[in-house]
Amino acid sequence: MKPLTKSAYMRAKACRRLAWIEAREGRHQAEATAAEKLRRDLGESLSRCAQDLFPGGLSAWHKGMSEEQARTATAALVADPSVPAIFEAAFLVDGLSARADVLERTPDGWILHEVKSGKTPKNGHFEDLAFQVRVLEKAGIRVRGTGLIMLNPAYRGGMPLDGLHLLTRFDTGSETSALRAKVARRVVELQEVLEGPEPAPARVTECRECLLMARCWGELPPDDILFLSGARSRKMAAWEGQGWTRIGDLPASELSPQQIAAQEAIRFGAAWRDGPAPAPTGPIAYVDFESEMPAIPYLPDCGPFEDAPYQFSCWIEEEPRTLAREEAFLWPQTEDELGLDPRPLFVEALLRAVEGAETIVFYSGFETDLLKRLTRAGIPGAERALELFETRGFDLEKVVKQQVRHPDLRGYTSIKQVLPALCPEMALEYKTLPGVANGDDAGVAIAEMRSPQTIQSRRAERAAELLAYCGLDARAMAHVLWAIQDLPAAP
Ligand code: SF4
Repeated sequence: MKPLTKSAYMRAKACRRLAWIEAREGRHQAEATAAEKLRRDLGESLSRCAQDLFPGGLSAWHKGMSEEQARTATAALVADPSVPAIFEAAFLVDGLSARADVLERTPDGWILHEVKSGKTPKNGHFEDLAFQVRVLEKAGIRVRGTGLIMLNPAYRGGMPLDGLHLLTRFDTGSETSALRAKVARRVVELQEVLEGPEPAPARVTECRECLLMARCWGELPPDDILFLSGARSRKMAAWEGQGWTRIGDLPASELSPQQIAAQEAIRFGAAWRDGPAPAPTGPIAYVDFESEMPAIPYLPDCGPFEDAPYQFSCWIEEEPRTLAREEAFLWPQTEDELGLDPRPLFVEALLRAVEGAETIVFYSGFETDLLKRLTRAGIPGAERALELFETRGFDLEKVVKQQVRHPDLRGYTSIKQVLPALCPEMALEYKTLPGVANGDDAGVAIAEMRSPQTIQSRRAERAAELLAYCGLDARAMAHVLWAIQDLPAAP
């Protein structure tokens, strides 16, 4: 059986069956996407930066080394009192395995530091540390404190890219200590589960993304409670306990208004529109923004994870059901534009695109929220753009929530779910897009376009992909609106 790692321990909290299977077969996961690789690269570069905070520290692991070699190196570094800190220290004891990001030596014991790519500590981080403390102490390491090393909220684009500027430390000693007894108990319980018989599947929210879905559940009916929006693990367990496994079985007293609407559509078995057909006044601008929240900001007045818009598409409908033209903005399309702040350019182009529209259609509060942040940041024109979005805005998602009853939606209202239900032929267009077909792909493409290392022909190729993707997102909104207008009235 494979040793229990901290990530297996954290995953087991969601599903013990998954932990049991993975202990025997290894991790079941899809090949990492380009976006996941980018996030992994970020984690690795932050870990390297964190080493700046511990001068004289040495790494117990280098690329190409096995876990066993890393453990041997760790033991040697622990035994050498001249080493002030150990990076990537590896331990295996009593079936538990841990890799500590940083172990800092002090006269009266070690401080365990974990490097995370967020800005604020979360409960899961403390439990993660408590698990590692359990392993380290079993291995005979006296841990006298724990801490998190995270992105420094005061870091701004252009500052030196080293640990001293980019990162900050949090002392998590008391939070971790408070969890130690609980984690120790959970580890023992989990090890008993792992050594016992294969646990039966249980409906948990994680099933929805799990690669073992077919193995655990076979072919579930589309109205299984597992597919109901807002159904959390604990609720589903309680429903299963009552013998309710289909959305139609659930009593209204158990459901939110949105879930009740979903249940009605499933029971009826066909789509309808609740209320009169929405008829926004033309000309109509259908607008979609793309922005990124880089962990390491590139603009001088932006901190980690601050929104930076880089693209919009705006389709104009002047005559009913005819998209006359597209206005689009994308930065940076050439190397010369790399030094520019995209935000004023974005707003300027946006104002030009939407000024003549009587109605501005967008999907969810994302666009107005972004304009609020740009207004607060003092970007010229952002206040006017926000005013236009607030006075002429038409949030299509709100209309979907209030009026669309469709058996395939099961309470979900994101455009990615609504489009295939209402406009299946348009949803297929996403499959024909070259390179960029979702938000994650877009994030990877813009990161590549922003890189000074990217050659111009590649930047142009990525630009074409992003323009096609964002243009389709905006066009899709028009088709969703028209499909809602065409739905039959309430039965
Ligand atoms: S499909 Fe669900 S029950 Fe099966 S292993 Fe995955 S999370 Fe667990």
